[in-house]
Amino acid sequence: MAKDNSKVLLDVKDLRVSFDTYAGEVQAVRGTNFYVNKGEALGIVGESGCGKSVTVKSLLKLIPMPPGRIKTGSAMFNGKDLVKMSDKKLESIRGSEISMIFQDPMTSLNPTMKVGKQIMEGLIKHQKMSKKEAKERAIEMLRLVGIPTPEKRVDQYPHEFSGGMRQRGMIAIALACNPKLLVADEPTTALDVTIQAQILDLMKDLQDKMNTSIIMITHDLGVIADIAQRVVVMYGGLIMEEGTVDDIYYNPQHPYTWGLLKSVPRLDNKKKERLVPIEGTPPDLFSPPKGCPFADRCEYAMPICKEEMPEKTSITDLHAVSCWLQHDMAPDVKNPVTEGRKK
Ligand code: SF4
Repeated sequence: MAKDNSKVLLDVKDLRVSFDTYAGEVQAVRGTNFYVNKGEALGIVGESGCGKSVTVKSLLKLIPMPPGRIKTGSAMFNGKDLVKMSDKKLESIRGSEISMIFQDPMTSLNPTMKVGKQIMEGLIKHQKMSKKEAKERAIEMLRLVGIPTPEKRVDQYPHEFSGGMRQRGMIAIALACNPKLLVADEPTTALDVTIQAQILDLMKDLQDKMNTSIIMITHDLGVIADIAQRVVVMYGGLIMEEGTVDDIYYNPQHPYTWGLLKSVPRLDNKKKERLVPIEGTPPDLFSPPKGCPFADRCEYAMPICKEEMPEKTSITDLHAVSCWLQHDMAPDVKNPVTEGRKK
């Protein structure tokens, strides 16, 4: 189904973000367009430095400005443009309508404050709850995220929680005010695989229960298979491919997406397989290439690829790709990753 504006919660258009450094301008995000529907989970995937975190953090002014700056673009959230919003207004939206969880809960949690108090803070500030009401809600949130004996845990400090419990605590803080949008930036990267799976299950469950929209930022395509409905693949500050989870897993069209898929274990394959990392390094964003940013690492690169950035080609209403292989004059290349892969 095509984009339906009545369902869109966040609509980002032509976002360009740069960092001004003594060495020159780093063009971290070079014109991205994406949207998130109400109650939908969107995955933004790419290697580190591809611009995925900067894209979302810049909208929430969570990057230092300066040296960072939004050069162009808009981000309509519930009818208001986050880019034009005053710092004060944005601050009131962060933590109430939009919440965030990060990779390392220890850097986000305040080590000197009880976990319960940290949940209560937002409730007292944004929802004007009394202390008693906020504490009850904090206990309820800890229970909801699966922390045992929440009545006791509510009065403990972060260092008394295990790694997985801290991440659950962060989720409890982030969701306590019932935000419309949850931004999760590599939320499970620091956790071991079993805890990672539990946290992802929890997020999915909470998304269903609370109808929260989620933007999941990750370098790992495997992480979003179960949680996201749509995926945006970023590289060199640009979107290379976007589509539903099924489009990206079962009918990917961009060589970079193929590379990402080859570098994660297949969940549908019981046999051991060799994972293939993508050779080479990302482009220099001080002077980004004029053509396709993936050209230096792409085994299918053609002369045109280095000369001109390919246009976005729509495969279906929701699936689009920016690659010269889509052009009529390009050779016919068979997708090397998903041949024979079953849904
Ligand atoms: Fe490879 Fe060219 Fe497609 Fe870029 S545009 S991904 S270099 S084939």
